[in-house]
Amino acid sequence: MPNSKTVSDYIRAIPDFPHEGIIFRDVTTLFSDPRGFRMAVDQLVHPFVGQRIDKVVGLEARGFILGGAVAHQLSVGFVPVRKQGKLPGDVLSEAYTLEYGKAVVEIHTDAIQPGERVLVVDDLLATGGTATAGIKLIERLGGEITGCAFVVDLPELGGRKRLEELGMSVHTLCE
Ligand code: IMP
Repeated sequence: MPNSKTVSDYIRAIPDFPHEGIIFRDVTTLFSDPRGFRMAVDQLVHPFVGQRIDKVVGLEARGFILGGAVAHQLSVGFVPVRKQGKLPGDVLSEAYTLEYGKAVVEIHTDAIQPGERVLVVDDLLATGGTATAGIKLIERLGGEITGCAFVVDLPELGGRKRLEELGMSVHTLCE
């Protein structure tokens, strides 16, 4: 049977999570549907087919699920950017500002070689703070970013503009 659904049809909005007044975009319903998940991964990969990509970097945690599938589809390796204290080897750290407070993300120092071309993947782009911290880690290791791919863009929060101002090519599937 033909599937007329689009990626956004598989994503649900949950009000007042994790705080009152926040509408959380829940992609677990996209991930759990075989057609939805394949559609999302295929569409994330599409613009980058034929471009040189050596590694996919996924941002914790939903970026691991998408990034792993994207890396598999591109037949390249996968590298996690994790929250502080989770990676066992030598790491580089990058602090960034959240709505309330600060967060730190880390990458293994040997995960990317200078000159490698990297695709950054996450589920959702809001302010762009998380992605910017990931990009800084990759660039500090000498990696070059081919692009950044997200399922959801929340344009009113300015993340796309912020990444484009850094010279990034930003690919998103829905708003
Ligand atoms: P940013 O750093 O403000 O761009 O926020 C994006 C990060 O927060 C990503 O790693 C997302 O997984 C997470 N995030 C923020 N809001 C949501 C949401 O509504 N649904 C799913 N993830 C979210």
